[in-house]
Amino acid sequence: MSLTYLNSHQRLLKMVEEIEDYAIVLLDEYGNIENWNKGAQKIKGYTAAEIIGKNFSIFYTEADLAENLPTKLINEAARNEKVTNEGWRIRKDGTRFWGSVLITAIHNDGEVIGFTKIIRDMTAIKETEDALRKSEDRYHKMVSEVVDYAIVLLDADGNIENWNKGAERIKGYLPAEIIGKNFRLFYTPEDRKNRVPDQIISTARYQGRAQQDGWRVRKDGTLFWGSVTITALYDDEGIVTGFSKVTRDLTEKRKSEKAHEEHMLDLSRRNSELEQFTYIASHDLQEPLRTISSFNELLKEQYYEQLDDDGRMFTDMIEQSADRMRNLIHGLLDYTRIGTRKSLTEVNCNTVVQDIEKDLYKLISETNTTIISHPLPILQGLKMELIQLFQNLISNAIKYRKKNLAPVIEIRAEEHREHWQFSLSDNGIGMDQRYIHKIFMIFQRLHNRDEYKGNGIGLANCKKIAELHKGDIWVHSVLGEGSTFYFTIAKHIDHL
Ligand code: ADP
Repeated sequence: MSLTYLNSHQRLLKMVEEIEDYAIVLLDEYGNIENWNKGAQKIKGYTAAEIIGKNFSIFYTEADLAENLPTKLINEAARNEKVTNEGWRIRKDGTRFWGSVLITAIHNDGEVIGFTKIIRDMTAIKETEDALRKSEDRYHKMVSEVVDYAIVLLDADGNIENWNKGAERIKGYLPAEIIGKNFRLFYTPEDRKNRVPDQIISTARYQGRAQQDGWRVRKDGTLFWGSVTITALYDDEGIVTGFSKVTRDLTEKRKSEKAHEEHMLDLSRRNSELEQFTYIASHDLQEPLRTISSFNELLKEQYYEQLDDDGRMFTDMIEQSADRMRNLIHGLLDYTRIGTRKSLTEVNCNTVVQDIEKDLYKLISETNTTIISHPLPILQGLKMELIQLFQNLISNAIKYRKKNLAPVIEIRAEEHREHWQFSLSDNGIGMDQRYIHKIFMIFQRLHNRDEYKGNGIGLANCKKIAELHKGDIWVHSVLGEGSTFYFTIAKHIDHL
């Protein structure tokens, strides 16, 4: 049947009946339901037969009924022609939906004879809005609770719009004291004069984001080292509406960095003073030494006949001591010179050991020494110094050998993340654990000079060389059972 066969009244009824997205319901003047369209059935679950004749209050929650809401709504619609309302309503199966309701009064000769009620199911929209609001609330709460960062919103002129706990902790103001004030307040008068706050704002405005570190002022006038990031906030048209400003208080870090820098400066100043002193002192010591030696020579040459055996022995002893003194001074000079040729090159440690073996060929074969060298790295370092380091350790391992045992020396390298760790072990006489800490100090020896020649400078040199390569040196040793020396060389050395 075509719609044209129906009269206009019937057509209207048909149209209302077929609408599915809106519940359209006719109520009598008391709120009793008189008709029921497809939309009403779809939204509320009742068929027309089940619901017609019932009062529309059936859809309301207990709480709304307690408030007498349905009656209030139709009374208001009767008074004001119409009323709108939103709220949770109840379906036939007891579940809830969020209804958006428009009730309009129907009049006849000025008398209210009933109402139309149009309802939309807004549950999905309501739920999305609620979830959004909830997550916004949570987000605001999170920002306001953060204590490690000051997170602040600024308007386009830099006026403060909100204030979190971190801002309060770092800068000392309560929200009521600071909201509405300008963020320039945190800058020192000098920075303000130099327009430092304006610079960061304008960089953020044109580049989207700006970063700045510097001393800032707290409420009590004290300074803190702030690391600030400002990000521009745009509206839909791309116009800057304000800024977010995140500040970290890095005062402690800054102070410790400064203290470290000063300490390093002081250390290098003292080091170079010491080196200069040692260098001058050793040169000046050579002068009187030369005089002693030459007069001793003269004494021996010109007065040889007049001297008795004791006298000759004394001159010999003067000569020996002078030689020793000369050796010590040379050692000291070598020590101070380490690292003065400061150019890093590629050093193949395998070649270094092979060359030393050639240089020490005589000593090695006389003492029947075996050197087992495992694969060693090629690294960036000071070549002459690294040769000296290996050579000192190898010759010590031979020097401090056991009387009836041929020396066996084993050299290895282990790769670590930041450095190489070398080890050089021997089967020699070993050392007493109690005195081990002394051996890397200049002129410190654990063994008698008559038994083992030396002046106690070799290991001090080794320590200095390892440290020049940002490394360290140490030893494990058991008296009578041999020693293993370890040293490290950094893989990346920026400066010496
Ligand atoms: P020097 O060998 O000239 O005395 P070093 O600085 O090279 O000076 O060594 C310091 C001391 O460490 C030595 O006197 C010795 O007592 C001890 N030492 C060094 N290397 C070894 C080793 N491989 N085995 C045992 N003792 C050692």
